[in-house]
Amino acid sequence: MKADSTEPRAVPVLVPMPADRPFSYAVPDGMQVRPGSIVRIPLGPREVAGIVWDGACDAIDPDKLRLISEVFDCPPIDADMRRFVDWVSSYTLSPPGIVARMLLRAPEAFDPEPFVEGLQYTGNRPERMTAARTRILELASEGMAWSRSGLAHAAGVSLTVVDGLKAQGAFETAWIPPRPVVAPPDPSYAPTLLTGDQQAAADGLRAAVAADAFGVTLIDGVTGSGKTEVYFEAVAAAVEKGRQALILLPEIALTQAFLDRFQDRFGAKPAEWHSDLPPRMREKVWRQVAEGRVRVVAGARSALFLPFPELGLIVVDEEHDPAYKQEDRVFYHARDMAVVRGRIGRFPVVLASATPSVESRVNADQGRYRRLDLPGRFADAALPDLAAIDLRRAPPQRGTFLSPNLVSAVRETLERGEQSLLFLNRRGYAPLTLCRSCGHRFQCRNCSTWLVEHRFRGQLVCHHCGHHERKPDSCPECGTVDHLVACGPGVERIADEVVTTFPDARTIVLSSDIIGGVRRLRLELEAIAKGDADIVIGTQLVAKGHNFPNMTLVGVVDADLGLANGDPRAAERTFQLLSQVTGRAGRTGKRSRGLLQTYQPDHPVMRALVSGDAEAFYAREIAERERAGLPPFGRLAGVIVSALTRADAESHARELRRAAPAIGDIRVLGPAEAPLALLGGRHRFRLLVHGERRSDIQTFIRRMVTEAPRPRGTVRVQVDIDPQSFL
Ligand code: ADP
Ligand code: ZN
Repeated sequence: MKADSTEPRAVPVLVPMPADRPFSYAVPDGMQVRPGSIVRIPLGPREVAGIVWDGACDAIDPDKLRLISEVFDCPPIDADMRRFVDWVSSYTLSPPGIVARMLLRAPEAFDPEPFVEGLQYTGNRPERMTAARTRILELASEGMAWSRSGLAHAAGVSLTVVDGLKAQGAFETAWIPPRPVVAPPDPSYAPTLLTGDQQAAADGLRAAVAADAFGVTLIDGVTGSGKTEVYFEAVAAAVEKGRQALILLPEIALTQAFLDRFQDRFGAKPAEWHSDLPPRMREKVWRQVAEGRVRVVAGARSALFLPFPELGLIVVDEEHDPAYKQEDRVFYHARDMAVVRGRIGRFPVVLASATPSVESRVNADQGRYRRLDLPGRFADAALPDLAAIDLRRAPPQRGTFLSPNLVSAVRETLERGEQSLLFLNRRGYAPLTLCRSCGHRFQCRNCSTWLVEHRFRGQLVCHHCGHHERKPDSCPECGTVDHLVACGPGVERIADEVVTTFPDARTIVLSSDIIGGVRRLRLELEAIAKGDADIVIGTQLVAKGHNFPNMTLVGVVDADLGLANGDPRAAERTFQLLSQVTGRAGRTGKRSRGLLQTYQPDHPVMRALVSGDAEAFYAREIAERERAGLPPFGRLAGVIVSALTRADAESHARELRRAAPAIGDIRVLGPAEAPLALLGGRHRFRLLVHGERRSDIQTFIRRMVTEAPRPRGTVRVQVDIDPQSFL
């Protein structure tokens, strides 16, 4: 905005649509706006919310512009957040308005929360008093306004008594502010007595928060070493300083136990932010964060786009988790963007993991991040003993999937009255169904994927687009009846096998297909923690962060599952996931075991897990990445071209390739048909852009996209900087 004395008559406004820059709008006489103001503006035939942006408008006659309709009564988006939106936009090559839209996801929250109707004592005592009436007036005469039900509840009387008093003139209507979604956290409520190592790490974090400066700390500590306890001290330090704090978690909908722990430490829960939050609650949280009434948020990656005015700390728990990558519209990695947010806001960022990403490890090794180690489990709880079961030597019986060695380990665990977890990262009953008569395989009609049988639901389901169909009795190809066979296991099939083998054991199957959604899942997790199950069969949902005190055996049904997909991070991912899932065992000091069923017991991942030598694994993995120039030693970007016909997708991908500028250190690989060649009815081709560490991959891709012909018809181009998925 110009700094002259007259109010600007036109301002740039970022609108939630894919434009390269803000649009100009005229400011009506008497309206006050400034950068960050959330405004309602006409856009085509509609009205939408936008954000007044920085900078001057194009030299357009304000009289020709459309007028801003309204400025919302809402705290403006602060400058740090605006710079963050600009940064995410130029880094991910997403239009700024589409990034800003992530910030504007709670439209009802732009208006203040309505005050609640309440009662104020007028001083008029009715003539006829009862014990109940006396109790009420004692409370009310302290001067505070009460809600009708709150007063009745506090006095322990029925609502009719309150209404009666009102009718007699003892109360008049008063408007009271809406209740906070959570009480303020109290940093000194119940500090944990930390061990020496923990205290040293906590002191390091407290110093980082006190320094009021940007810096990244990686807390590297085995599962159960107390990373959560330690970063709670950083949160306490931020809250003491009057700053807001954000804790990012990969699977927030499932972390009831985390919220309870926070409450034990701070006397109040953090506000939650994730996609399962009811809309009314979302709006309240958004608003109260913007007003600074919420001090700590625990949330999924999208919480990065909450309008914190006083953010002073971000913690990224399980920083290696792939769930932090969003692959929808704006492709961003929440861990990396959290670091950017900290740099812009000049505050510390804490990354925590038992199995850090190779990227974070390298950053720590090279001194860009500070590293704090927590070498042992709390209270001398031992890590589980890990061993491989060589499936070539000890194969399961025909038609089953659990090796006799694993079955006897489960039996021994049962006999000791302890819990077992059988882990298989595959939902449903079987990943493939085929006809034994003609060989027909059931494929999704929209995607190049097999349909997964879900026997509980009686359906064949596509895990990519959600398409589902009833499983037929006869083959749709040859018509043969009763010849369809399930190939390979999913968790439901393992559950069948367990029930057959251990008919008296109490079993629970946990996957995201659970009927009853997140609420049910939370109940089941609590039940497991309380010991109400003997054998748990689960997908990665059970791998993350839970504390099951009586669990002493973890059996990995197919340890090789993630290794074969040609992804440069396949080994790293498998190592992380299996470390994490076996880390569910032995959290309270009992002797515990982890058994990995594998056909490749000599694979470096299995060796690292069994020997417990994570350092050797990282050293090898880092050396390999460096040799191949892969992240973090080089840079990658995926460009995905899709269209309703294969020919259109392919020809546009070739046009892009032709338009690639000649910049020495950046190469383009492809186009090649994507491994997921058909997805949701769209044909897909991929280009992979590979550069050196300092390459300006964004400028390269921007030029490639602008110099190629515009995508026509159904063609769409999606850029994925730092891709995590190569499908
Ligand atoms: P991590 O986050 O590294 O997996 P946690 O912080 O969850 O580890 O700690 C593991 C368990 O040990 C938790 O039940 C936690 O409450 C307990 N614990 C860790 N440190 C302490 C401590 N200093 N005092 C009491 N309990 C602790
Ligand atoms: Zn599909």
